[in-house]
Amino acid sequence: MNRKEFFKTSGRILILGAMAATTGYLVVNQKVDTTCSVSPACQKCGEFAKCELPQAIETKQANQLQEKTP
Ligand code: SF4
Repeated sequence: MNRKEFFKTSGRILILGAMAATTGYLVVNQKVDTTCSVSPACQKCGEFAKCELPQAIETKQANQLQEKTP
């Protein structure tokens, strides 16, 4: 590895590390919204039956309540 390659590789590793640290910070401090953007109420989503995202779980619970209500 020559000097030029060393600086290129070091720069890439530095950028990758900064991206990983930023992502970790955002996830740990819950600055990232995990709301699904496919469908606001999971309507007509093909993943609904097996989806375990909070949005889908809330929709399933709401559907169960509606089914129980006469
Ligand atoms: S079922 Fe899951 S993937 Fe589909 S819209 Fe709802 S949350 Fe998003």
